Amino acid sequence: MPSVLWFRRDLRRHDNPALLAALDAARADGDDTVVPLFVLDPRLWEPAGAARRAWLSRSLHALDASLGGALVVRHGDPATVVPEVAAAAGAATVHVAADFGPYGAARDRTVAEALEAAGRRLVRTGSPYAVAPGRVLKSDGTAYRVYTPFHRAWEAHGWRAPAEDPGRWPSWRRDRSGPLASEGVPAARAEVDLPPVGEAAALERWDAFRRDGLASYGGLRDRPDVAGTSGLSAHLRWGEIHPRTLLADLDDSPSHTVFRKELAWREFYADVLHREPASARTWLDPRFAAMEHDGGPDADERFAAWCQGRTGFPFVDAGMRQLLAEGWMHNRVRMVTASFLVKDLHLPWRRGARWFLTHLRDGDLASNQHGWQWVAGSGTDAAPYFRVFNPVTQGLRFDPGGEYVRRYVAELRALPGAAAHEPWKHPLLAAGYPAPVVDHAAERAEALRRYGTLPAR
Ligand SMILES: Cc1cc2nc3c(=O)[nH]c(=O)nc-3n(C[C@H](O)[C@H](O)[C@H](O)COP(=O)(O)OP(=O)(O)OC[C@H]3O[C@@H](n4cnc5c(N)ncnc54)[C@H](O)[C@@H]3O)c2cc1C
Repeated sequence: MPSVLWFRRDLRRHDNPALLAALDAARADGDDTVVPLFVLDPRLWEPAGAARRAWLSRSLHALDASLGGALVVRHGDPATVVPEVAAAAGAATVHVAADFGPYGAARDRTVAEALEAAGRRLVRTGSPYAVAPGRVLKSDGTAYRVYTPFHRAWEAHGWRAPAEDPGRWPSWRRDRSGPLASEGVPAARAEVDLPPVGEAAALERWDAFRRDGLASYGGLRDRPDVAGTSGLSAHLRWGEIHPRTLLADLDDSPSHTVFRKELAWREFYADVLHREPASARTWLDPRFAAMEHDGGPDADERFAAWCQGRTGFPFVDAGMRQLLAEGWMHNRVRMVTASFLVKDLHLPWRRGARWFLTHLRDGDLASNQHGWQWVAGSGTDAAPYFRVFNPVTQGLRFDPGGEYVRRYVAELRALPGAAAHEPWKHPLLAAGYPAPVVDHAAERAEALRRYGTLPAR
């Protein structure tokens, strides 16, 4: 009897425990046929921006090629589609990596019920994380709300070695017509500038970063003007590579340790979201419900300037334009642009988070919403509200030669070196570039005043 392998955020063949489980199940029934399925769910596809769609489309093409063209792509609600495909395949089990996000977990419960009603089973093996959300606990059995102790306990908990490839891959099945025919990978317009996509590209990227970037990661990871980070976030987002594969290659040297700590942030935020699913929409710290935000046409205009990279603050604008051009932004610049929206424009973090999630190719609910809440002060950070990033000094510090700004803000290309961060001092060389939409010093004071009105912890 064949089994079904339903791919979601694990678009790879190697180090894939769900694939091994699907193969084992088929073999236990004297078969080695696995139907590889991807369901294009309109609830996830419709809100995705150009970068996410283009990435997914290319990643599915790559996966399909690695499965010899056997990937069955079906469009529709998984609660209907998955049981239909399982029935058509004559499969007793459908195999997945567990999804811990609020939508994915609820969807999987519905699919499992629909399968059970027809005498079939949804089997969850592994997850997109080195340690599944919910596993790292304090000694009293409760969850961590602060990163540093979580990280310590996560390291102590440890993780499995990467899963080994099967001696022989399954016989992948897809029919040319009928209920196991593929509806095809969705086309996506290539409006964004993407690097190579797919499992092979992810493994190559990791090899190149290990060779050329990892040793200097600790010193360069905050510099958006140089390629100092791994660029793996979208590969991880889509499961083209598993974090376990990365962790297995790390040792205890300082740069490797810093990199492991960054992977732990991803695991921490997934853990927090799993325990508090409502934190995707509302403040983790409920005191922030009383926060005063700006609204109305002026606020809308400032929001539009932020989205389009026309705030008049070069470091912020470079980041927002990078997001639109590439569907990616450097972490330091994500923090500065997010802080600007919340603390200089006084807009609710959810507005910015939605824009990011739509446009990021690595858009991930847990890392994004909690990255935003961290900046806004309503999340997992212990002493946050007085941290108001100065967009000019941040730029001068982390892009000292102005190269990052000149790369993305064409109007500032005539400004030499660090002058790119202060165009108002050189108006003739910055023609066409907008004046700052706000006075940072005044808005910083206003942000602190508003934070001061919140109830004490
Ligand atoms: C406001 C805001 C929104 C963010 N939204 C997302 C998002 O939607 N998706 C996403 O993957 N990351 C998000 N991040 C985290 C971080 O910015 C990106 O993971 C990182 O920039 C990706 O680039 P990289 O792969 O080169 O990172 P590297 O520096 O090479 O880090 C390696 C990996 O560690 C993980 N990581 C690193 N930093 C963080 C972090 N602060 N939080 C969680 N994981 C981290 C990522 O998986 C990353 O790929 C956000 C951060 C902020 C401040």
